[in-house]
Amino acid sequence: ACNGSSKNTESFVKIPPIKFSKLFINGKFVDSLSEKMFETIDPRTGEAVARVSEGDKEDVDLAVKAARQAFDHGAWPRMSGSERGSIMMKFADLVEQNIEEIAPLDAINAGKLLSHCKAIELPVAVKILRYYAGAADKIHGTVLKLSKGIQGHTLKEPIGVVGCIIPWNFPTLMFFTKAAPALAAGCTVVVKPAEQTPHSALYYAHLAKLAGIPDGVLNVVNGFGETAGAAISSHMDVDKVSFTGSTEVGRKIMAAAAASNLKPVSLELGGKSPLIIFEDADIDEAVNIAFNGIFYNKGEVCVASSRVYVQEGIYEKFEKKVVEKTNAWIVGDPFDPRVDQGPQIDKKQFEKILSYIEHGKREGATLLTGGKRIGNKGFYIEPTIFSDVKEDMSIAKEEIFGPVMSLMKFKTMEEAIKRANDTTYGLAAGVITKNLNVANTVSRSIRAGFIWINCYSRFDLDCPYGGYKMSGFGREFGLDALNQYLQIKSVVTPIHDSPW
Ligand code: NAD
Repeated sequence: ACNGSSKNTESFVKIPPIKFSKLFINGKFVDSLSEKMFETIDPRTGEAVARVSEGDKEDVDLAVKAARQAFDHGAWPRMSGSERGSIMMKFADLVEQNIEEIAPLDAINAGKLLSHCKAIELPVAVKILRYYAGAADKIHGTVLKLSKGIQGHTLKEPIGVVGCIIPWNFPTLMFFTKAAPALAAGCTVVVKPAEQTPHSALYYAHLAKLAGIPDGVLNVVNGFGETAGAAISSHMDVDKVSFTGSTEVGRKIMAAAAASNLKPVSLELGGKSPLIIFEDADIDEAVNIAFNGIFYNKGEVCVASSRVYVQEGIYEKFEKKVVEKTNAWIVGDPFDPRVDQGPQIDKKQFEKILSYIEHGKREGATLLTGGKRIGNKGFYIEPTIFSDVKEDMSIAKEEIFGPVMSLMKFKTMEEAIKRANDTTYGLAAGVITKNLNVANTVSRSIRAGFIWINCYSRFDLDCPYGGYKMSGFGREFGLDALNQYLQIKSVVTPIHDSPW
């Protein structure tokens, strides 16, 4: 592996064993009814990894039927929260015990660093399962003292059959961010993994069964968005859809929900998140935060700090240091432990990113470094930094979802806030300063669901996370996420002859 401008994948090209490639419906691995298959692709080479069953509407129907049966008549929503919790704890243990075997599946499907899958994404998924397993027996309604002669309470009940439509950038994390709170609430689920990354999801279905999750409670239907995904969002027997992905598809899902049974949806959509760096910041720390904020996971991160505002006094110095940092950044095979950045997910994203880079050049931004593909095989792109970016350029307005940083200069805090808010998105933002007053003023003024002060992309399971504006709505993580899979019922009864 080499840095910045070249790479060598030769010594690491290997495909991990793929154990599961069918659909998982009602506790069994089955072929799709059409028996159609599609290929998953190794983004290091563009070549096929495996063939998997392609689910369509009729397979979704079967999965929803199984989930419906398991919800309406099965044990899962009826058992005590602590029983559900202990099965989920076992599920978590099994995921933990199989990290070595599962992590390569995400790495090969998504071009993610194997080391990060093993050390970060999968261990965090285990924690998510344990967090919600622990919450399963702490779901309470409230006692209501109503007016004289009337008494009441609320029940929190599972919402029913949940459709989870997930993206490819964090295949494992997204699976559990949605499935774990839904299962803890007592719901049954149908998961549609992204077509690029079905293998780990199928492995989790297998482990769920081993852990004792009853048949029909957790189903996985691989397939494409316009077929399998659309069948979930328009299904009359799905009670809720939880989606993460593009704003464009989020709109379609909401429309399909409205046109079918008015199921509630939660939408975790795109972003164009600003990071504002003030002159009093420790510049090396700020460079590190900004760099990782955009280049982590090759920029395929919904909260990526894709707009970096730097105050004028340190702008030139910042430019120099951030470019220097790309020289030490290694792009190459994600299975190589020395590598910092793997290939982009697929050809479509790869071409989209390169086309944004061309737009950036044409619209007059200054290309400080990068801008090209690396090698002639696979989907590798140089870490790319543009300077002198203006808000009306497409690289400043639209989500690129790739390793492209846009640098912009500002003078005052008021100006930075105004420009940071000049976006249709509102997922996240960051501020770097030693001045507490500035940090708090910026935090309150930015319309986004997550603000990081002197750090970026720091998550905690207990921190709710979700969008403002066109970044969607609903919250994941924390107990707020659990509540998305519960609904509240009021139960009221009169008290006769009571003086109170
Ligand atoms: P996408 O939104 O098309 O795909 C996300 C999921 O939705 C996948 O499972 C897909 O099969 C499904 N889907 C697609 N069309 C659907 C439909 N009509 N009905 C129901 N489900 C459907 O994302 P993409 O095309 O893979 O990527 C495009 C852009 O989306 C990226 O460039 C990026 O900007 C954004 N994105 C954001 C996130 C995020 O975490 N917020 C994740 C992935 C992609």
